[in-house]
Amino acid sequence: MSATKLLADLRAAGLHVVEEPGWKKRGWRWRVDGEPEGVMQHHTAPPNPFPIKKLYGPPSYFIKCNMATHEDGTLYLVAYRACNYSSGYGMLSVLRDNVRKSIAPTHNATKRGAKGGNKHFWNYENSHPGDGSDIPQVQLDTIIVSTQVVVDHFGMDPEQIISHAEWTRRKIDPRWNGSNRIAINQIREGVAGTPPVIIPPPPSGDDWTTELIMALPTLAKGDGFASEGKAETRPDVANAQGLLLANGFKDQNSATPETATDGWFGTGTDQSTRQFQQSKGMTRDGIIGQNTWTALLGQ
Ligand SMILES: [Zn+2]
Repeated sequence: MSATKLLADLRAAGLHVVEEPGWKKRGWRWRVDGEPEGVMQHHTAPPNPFPIKKLYGPPSYFIKCNMATHEDGTLYLVAYRACNYSSGYGMLSVLRDNVRKSIAPTHNATKRGAKGGNKHFWNYENSHPGDGSDIPQVQLDTIIVSTQVVVDHFGMDPEQIISHAEWTRRKIDPRWNGSNRIAINQIREGVAGTPPVIIPPPPSGDDWTTELIMALPTLAKGDGFASEGKAETRPDVANAQGLLLANGFKDQNSATPETATDGWFGTGTDQSTRQFQQSKGMTRDGIIGQNTWTALLGQ
């Protein structure tokens, strides 16, 4: 499995491929097993066609996608490694579960503070206005055929293909040929070769099993601060912060209290945890254990 192999397979599939300079080494380390957890499909905002170079900076560390498609059917290779722009940490157990269930985490993902998930997915930016209008067949064919190659490359199942709109209700993409639902199902159906099985979303909150909650780590002040400094933040701390925010408890020590999910359990997070616990009539100890997780998740 390598960028060179992927390129060869894309070309062998008959696609018109353009390599953006440096794409083989561009991106960040995948968070799980050195591989993406799934494929996420987006549309770009206008102008159409979208300028490819804007998908990877500046600044150079803002990487929005791994591949991009244009209306003429061209496939652009942007990055072989993980994206980081418009991303949140996500919680890996949730992410796996959501992907497996194909796939409607929607509002739950937002509630959990998993903002975009780009770090976990192989991302497509498909140049399209996103207004529900028709997508050119040649572009759709490129999306389907290349997604098939990517799914095979990483050993995924077609049900691991999701739309951004399924990940968070803040988004509507990709949206063409009528709706997001139609767009993503056209891709899944094309890749799988059969009509997709649409699994309805679980009842609200019902996907948080006791087992899953018990598997969550106990968090307290000091977590997320690596001994070598700020290099190592904790995704689970960031998730807890996202949940505190979703419950209306901001980190007042942060410069950006409305959105801070920095992965460091400091004094501000300690305070907002205690305030949250007090609001629920719980022991005000600042420790996020099973009971506090349960309350944060609204169970
Ligand atoms: Zn998107």
